[in-house]
Amino acid sequence: MSNFRASGIPERRHTEPVPADRRVHVLADGRWVDPNVIDPTGRYNVYDCPSGHHLLSMDLDRGVTPAFVACPDCDATAGSRFYRVPDPASSLPLRMVWRLATRSERKRERREGGDHYALGGLSREWVP
Ligand SMILES: [Zn+2]
Repeated sequence: MSNFRASGIPERRHTEPVPADRRVHVLADGRWVDPNVIDPTGRYNVYDCPSGHHLLSMDLDRGVTPAFVACPDCDATAGSRFYRVPDPASSLPLRMVWRLATRSERKRERREGGDHYALGGLSREWVP
């Protein structure tokens, strides 16, 4: 499993049609993930909060992700394991996806004067 990073991330992953027979989460850009299944080629990370929540994330695209996020379960600051996740299955289900920003997200950022996406940052989408 340690070859995840070395193998790199294909561009625009998970673009195949939504399977009718699986309980998937459809993302804002139309792609989908199955929160209960590990993608053997996926690039996984975990953010740990001080209350013991372990938030499994997956990068769908290449880009920059932050070292900290606000835990959606308790609002505390959750810190990244910096992709050192030898057994992502032990942290299922998937809680967040990092993906390229949608056109409307980029537009909103420009309007608000930010530059996260412009500088290569990925957009976070929570998986309920
Ligand atoms: Zn928490």
